[in-house]
Amino acid sequence: MKYSVKKIICFATVVPVLFLSACSFVPQKYTSTDVGMGTIVSQTVYVKGDGKEVTRKVQDLVNRFEEEISWRIETSDVSGINHFAGKEAGYAISKELSDDLRKVWQISADSDGAFDVTIAPVVRLWNIDAKATGNEQSDLLPSDAEIKDKLSLTGYEDVRIEDNIVYLPAGYLIDLGAVGKGMACDRILSLLKDEMGSLSATRPISGQVSVHGAVISLGGNILTYGEKPDGSAWKVGVVDPMNPDAYLGMLTLTGTNFVTTSGDYERYVEIDGERYHHIIDPGTGYPADSGIRSVTILSDSGLVGDALSTACFVLGRDKALELAQEYGVEILLVTDTGELVMSDGMQSVFVEK
Ligand code: FAD
Ligand code: MG
Repeated sequence: MKYSVKKIICFATVVPVLFLSACSFVPQKYTSTDVGMGTIVSQTVYVKGDGKEVTRKVQDLVNRFEEEISWRIETSDVSGINHFAGKEAGYAISKELSDDLRKVWQISADSDGAFDVTIAPVVRLWNIDAKATGNEQSDLLPSDAEIKDKLSLTGYEDVRIEDNIVYLPAGYLIDLGAVGKGMACDRILSLLKDEMGSLSATRPISGQVSVHGAVISLGGNILTYGEKPDGSAWKVGVVDPMNPDAYLGMLTLTGTNFVTTSGDYERYVEIDGERYHHIIDPGTGYPADSGIRSVTILSDSGLVGDALSTACFVLGRDKALELAQEYGVEILLVTDTGELVMSDGMQSVFVEK
């Protein structure tokens, strides 16, 4: 053997250093689960650097945004809008939120009011969320007269949004339950792209962390971003509304996508053998009964995907397909007979189980 002791020591030092720097170049998987917006927030991120920092920043964003838009939080902007209903002055919100609300109002108009966040007084009357989560034990259902009464305090057309000021008529309320998680997903995407760095290994984030890929789920709202280090596709399961413990199939996706599902199988109560779920038809004031059990939308905007999944659930098959086409999103409907109806683009990424 001709190696000197010095050379062996040197070799022994260099190999681990090379190995370590190679490791830090390969994105590592980091997962986290928490709660936010009344649902489970689960994250899988592939990160060069500190994965925990990334998931903490995402969770902080969800918490801050919830404080901005939750109608359950007294100090939120949405509570401010609701408290100012009927006041001449209107309520001032941020430019970002008012821009989003304008998009929300456009979807109300484009869906002929099937999607309408001013349905809140009727939603509160039914209070299905609280009944479904066990926070209210009552088996009482609202009367036709009560529903009619609350319906008279709804209508997106009666609200004015001028610049960043919202004017709500007296007695009106808004509830962003049908679109808030999608709006949060849009903000998470901006965070991952702008603040946390890009896919490029040469563009580090904050000098330390860069996100190669991520799947972030807020209940029925899923964001896929970037790529997995091994180059394989993202797989997003579509729940079987007839048997919510099982999947109907998988969406095989690459890059950035928003997958949003609205269904009647999670937030509902059964009273006297009847199922009452949480998506209200603003035309009747009753839980929507359009022959649909679930709607999945694949889109490049969280806000649009979330609003359309609710709108399409209310509209029913034919009008839902039309609206999805108008917005250039892909759609998968499960009808109450168990039939799967899909747009062509959805068909090309859906693999049935
Ligand atoms: P979606 O179809 O996306 O939305 C249905 C919800 O939208 C209904 O629950 C109702 O609130 C509203 N809605 C019903 N019909 C219509 C319609 N036609 N047009 C427009 N809106 C309609 N849940 C809790 O239990 N506790 C919480 O503290 C809580 N906080 C939340 C905070 C925020 C900021 C958000 C966005 C949600 C929160 N939630 C909470 C969950 C919320 O109450 C809804 O249950 C949830 O957003 C429903 O989402 P979904 O994807 O199931 O259905
Ligand atoms: Mg929705």
